[in-house]
Amino acid sequence: MLDQPDPSALAASQRVLDELVPGLRIAGALVSGDRNTFAVADPATAQPIAAVVDGTPDDALDAVAVAYESGRAWAATSTRHRSDVLHRAYAIMIEQREALALLITREMGKPLAEARGEVTYAADYVRWYAEEALRPSGTSRPGPEGDVRLLTSRAPVGTCLLITPWNFPMAMATRKIAPALAAGCSVILKPADLTPLTSLLVADIFQQAGVPDGLINVITTTDAAALSRAVMADPRVRKVSFTGSTPVGRTLLAQASPNVLKTSMELGGNAPFLVFDDADLDRAVEGAMVAKLRNGGQSCTAANRFLVQEGIADAFVEAFSERMSRVVVGNGLAAGVELGPVIDERALDKCRRLVADAVARGARVVTGGHALESEGWFFEPTVVVDAPDSAEIAHTEVFGPVASISRFSTQGEAIDRANDTPFGLSAYVFTRDLDRAFTVAERLETGMVGLNQGLVSNVAAPFGGTKHSGLGREGGAEGLEEYQDVRYFALNRRETA
Ligand code: NAD
Repeated sequence: MLDQPDPSALAASQRVLDELVPGLRIAGALVSGDRNTFAVADPATAQPIAAVVDGTPDDALDAVAVAYESGRAWAATSTRHRSDVLHRAYAIMIEQREALALLITREMGKPLAEARGEVTYAADYVRWYAEEALRPSGTSRPGPEGDVRLLTSRAPVGTCLLITPWNFPMAMATRKIAPALAAGCSVILKPADLTPLTSLLVADIFQQAGVPDGLINVITTTDAAALSRAVMADPRVRKVSFTGSTPVGRTLLAQASPNVLKTSMELGGNAPFLVFDDADLDRAVEGAMVAKLRNGGQSCTAANRFLVQEGIADAFVEAFSERMSRVVVGNGLAAGVELGPVIDERALDKCRRLVADAVARGARVVTGGHALESEGWFFEPTVVVDAPDSAEIAHTEVFGPVASISRFSTQGEAIDRANDTPFGLSAYVFTRDLDRAFTVAERLETGMVGLNQGLVSNVAAPFGGTKHSGLGREGGAEGLEEYQDVRYFALNRRETA
């Protein structure tokens, strides 16, 4: 039984949609009028909720021209000024939290409570970089021979292309825009065509906060490949920051090479979730619920392979499956809903296919396993146990509410299996033994490890992966450096009499 939307939440979200003219945003103005558009669907109903202008490479090049010019003026502003503008944007985002959350839920599907959480998290990147903008980062050191003084400082990299995915429509945008602006850069944002609406409202908020026209441009399009090719070939663009799948990341890395662009790549994950015999069972189950079901399992850090030690495996499977079976599924606008739809029909088919393939190869479904009868794209919270290595689910990023659990016997086996993937974004380790926690965490080949907790995202932390999960970091002090070039000045120094 699916929970239906609350009429008042539905009406409020419609008001937000009606007020937002879904055009492109170039030089601070909305471009709409007589243009080709594409539909944005609500995944809870599969019905279109808005039509957005389908931007072209020429639109994107117009944006590059204005971004380049306004970026030069912005780079010359004081860090105090940039910080003040970002602080104002943060305050407006918090003020407009409900409107932003309603929009996120309508276009992406996550429950309203989670969407509100995303707004807080996304706005926090803006506040964090309002603060980081002011941190001095230059150094001064003597050269080894003593005759030079070496001074370093950081300069904005210039005009940046930012490409974001659909799963966190607001947070993935602010995690890039805020450090770019703090560093003194200008941006062209290309949001996912499945969820372009939140980005348009975010750009509007930055403008209300005093960001000059042309500094943030948003190009919505169904032809991301043509747009990125045109923009990255323009010599005025110096950086591409991408969050999305590894295959697209590879294409962009190749495209970045002719102009030697600075790149940040936040790519796919395949997170192992390790539970050792000595783990606190309640904490492990609680962590598993967050690591698996946050964002409906559609997060790059989602626990993808549960590896549980033999002594605790039965108890973990029982407790986790029981909790999964009680999850309230429905339209994200309904009160009390914990799990919304997956993003589209393709994602729903993938969940169906992965479960059917695992079962055909000998796995057992403990709870869930089916798509729900609905016009929208809902899949039951599902636990599958003992899928063999040959099953597709054992090595594919699920990106849905399906958990696959298998057993291990020794610590060494757990580490080897956890690392047996080309991906290296995040991992989770549950144990009460501090020595084990650090030994295992240090041997895992991932950029991030959650120790006794199922969440690694934090604005103050360097978020990012190793291996095929990407290059560079977002958040923390490191996130600002992604938008800066190091400059060094050699100062000749002689003793005076
Ligand atoms: P995707 O790669 O299909 O799309 C991401 C973005 O790239 C979208 O805006 C899309 O329009 C654009 N795009 C697609 N083809 C392009 C091309 N040829 N040139 C330029 N842009 C192009 O990924 P998705 O389905 O939107 O997102 C899911 C993937 O993102 C998962 O693999 C997930 O793990 C990953 N992800 C990673 C992180 C991270 O921080 N590491 C965060 C969220 C999602």
